[in-house]
Amino acid sequence: MRSQENFPRTFSFEFFPPKTPEGKAKLRETWKQLGQLRPRFFSVTFGAGGSTREGTLETVLEIRAAGHEAAPHLSCIASSREDLKAQLERYRSNGIRHIVALRGDLPSGLAMSGEFRYATELVEFIRKEYGDQFHIEVAAYPEYHPQARTAQDDLRNFKRKIDAGADSAITQYFYNADAYYHFIEECEAMGVTVPIVPGIMPIGRFSQLARFSDACGAEIPRWIRNKLEGFGDDTASIRAFGLDVVTRLCDDLLKNGAPGLHFYTLNQAGLTSTIWQRLGL
Ligand code: FAD
Repeated sequence: MRSQENFPRTFSFEFFPPKTPEGKAKLRETWKQLGQLRPRFFSVTFGAGGSTREGTLETVLEIRAAGHEAAPHLSCIASSREDLKAQLERYRSNGIRHIVALRGDLPSGLAMSGEFRYATELVEFIRKEYGDQFHIEVAAYPEYHPQARTAQDDLRNFKRKIDAGADSAITQYFYNADAYYHFIEECEAMGVTVPIVPGIMPIGRFSQLARFSDACGAEIPRWIRNKLEGFGDDTASIRAFGLDVVTRLCDDLLKNGAPGLHFYTLNQAGLTSTIWQRLGL
């Protein structure tokens, strides 16, 4: 973890673009509340294939207009060079200089198409077209990406994104800190020297967490899964236990030199701000 300890800590909060007027109003309250914690930036996800194109930009611009830093995500799967160039141009002309560059996942049932197969190609494209105008974040997977042929392949593929010009990375969420420490050691051994900020998923609802984790390949350790399942519909106990588990994880990561935390807020302020307060940040 030595390479990570020397970076300034970066705290950030992730949102998805809401689809309804009620969702927009709710998210406005959320970022206003979380904005008081003075994160380094907020980030806003992007539906692969461009399904949230307008919503992502609109949300980022609204947050920026209130004086906060906000970074849009951009995924390249099922997009053409022309589409991506147009999207980057819109980001740039709106003064945006920080993006999270991803491959993306298509909704099931949609076939893959487009000119980019991997996030590395998007990072290369951005650097070729725009030089150093954007700070580029990429995704990292301490428990490895579910589609990787082997863990070693996935590490090499992660390094490709850094070599292509990514400035920093945010991880998929995990509940096992050792996976992150091991991943960082492997990255150090490969000569990767960028900040790799742990992604943190607060625990609010078990069924939702189980669904996400199955889809993205993040492991819910057996003891946590059993405990959460045992609470059944008792939401208060799930939240109380989840807060203890996730606060302890964050505390452990920061004490061991993690260069900040990136919270997957699911557009809710409550759990994230409670964890923040408990950590004394
Ligand atoms: P890549 O880095 O391209 O990797 C994808 C897979 O391909 C991996 O298995 C990798 O090992 C393999 N691979 C890479 N390069 C090669 C190569 N040259 N040859 C063979 N195999 C290769 N999804 C969205 O749709 N929208 C979002 O806004 C979004 N935000 C995210 C934010 C974060 C912080 C994270 C961690 C994930 C996010 N995702 C988002 C999910 C992400 O798009 C998926 O996990 C997706 O499956 C992989 O994206 P990637 O950018 O990591 O892909």
